[in-house]
Amino acid sequence: MKRISLKNRAIRGLIALALVLVFIAEPLGVQAESVEETEAEPLSKSSSSASVKVTFKNKTRTYYNALNKVYLNGKAVSLASYPIFKKSGTFMGPAEIIFGKSKLGTAYDANSSRVAIRSKTSLIVMRNGKKTAYLNGKKVYVGTPAMLVNYKKSGKTMWVVPLKSVCRVLGLNYSLTDGKIKISKKAKAKKTSKKKKATKATTVKKATTTTGKKLSTSAIAEKIVLCLDAGHGGDDSGASHYGFKEKNMNLAIVLAAKRYFDKDSHFKVYYTRVSDVLPTLNARCTFANSKNVDFFISVHINSYKKSSAGTETLYNAARVNKTAKKGLTSLELAAWMQGCTAATTGFGNRGLVNRPKLIVLKKTKMPACLIEYGFLSNPKEARRMNQSFTLYGKSLYNGVVRLMKRKGRYR
Ligand SMILES: [Zn+2]
Repeated sequence: MKRISLKNRAIRGLIALALVLVFIAEPLGVQAESVEETEAEPLSKSSSSASVKVTFKNKTRTYYNALNKVYLNGKAVSLASYPIFKKSGTFMGPAEIIFGKSKLGTAYDANSSRVAIRSKTSLIVMRNGKKTAYLNGKKVYVGTPAMLVNYKKSGKTMWVVPLKSVCRVLGLNYSLTDGKIKISKKAKAKKTSKKKKATKATTVKKATTTTGKKLSTSAIAEKIVLCLDAGHGGDDSGASHYGFKEKNMNLAIVLAAKRYFDKDSHFKVYYTRVSDVLPTLNARCTFANSKNVDFFISVHINSYKKSSAGTETLYNAARVNKTAKKGLTSLELAAWMQGCTAATTGFGNRGLVNRPKLIVLKKTKMPACLIEYGFLSNPKEARRMNQSFTLYGKSLYNGVVRLMKRKGRYR
């Protein structure tokens, strides 16, 4: 737990980390499936001149081929305050009106960074201006991303999405003829009994009402987002005994866990560091907060006397309720991880320790805990820990999976 503050180095380290993360976030090695198609059909002259001004990420642009109407299940719906417009050959339309407030059998949910639309069979989650989206939990590529825009004329802020591709993945009919966009439910199989119809309606209704008014994005198969923090780094070695440095051990455990998390599409994991750099403690918190992660786990190795022994997990008792998120508290997280870790290390179980003043437990806005695997000052534990990084990483991953299963978030 020894900590040295080296601000400048830390800032440089964080910038490097941020760059690494940006590159990781890009879909470089991902087998991306495209869900985008461009619209080949030209609009009739009468409507092609209509334009619309929208602000997207602080830039105002004019788009053409604006349409003030859309036909949903054969019925004209006015979009005067938030018209459809054409961007890069793709028609973009207000998701909430078309997929949320219509009778297409779809449900809509959004927050400021993502929009989720589901039909009975599919769920697509798109992020603001991002070309990668998630279709039924699998990464896909969208040629024209969803955008959270503000319509200049009406002042309305709306998520607009590429209509044709969204309809396609949701299993809806989409057509564009004579400047009219028509979207409808696919014709049902011939023998649809009344009973079956009723079940279908209930399913959709249930989906929209389980978590209150709107469908919670997390409840519809969204990724479990967490932050793993390898303690210390760079010029701050943390504890140091028998030629071992805590910073390297923490990182080795986190990187071992990363190998498992990388293969599991249920998770989106953010790492405060993946190399020997030193982000400040505040920067680690700001990073996790900015990513709005569901929970935060910091990995450390203890140090005190040669005779000290055992595994313990630190948490902040004063913030248990304040930081509770998605049905999880820091106390639950700490207790659960302590159980898993102590069982894995086989060292003594020292239980939970309340440490309200630790920055990473004080400034993180989500459930957080700090695991101390064992004592580096204890020669037996030091040797054992340095042979067990893969095991610890696997155990960390498995512990999180089992906890999320208990919470019903890992299916
Ligand atoms: Zn430490």
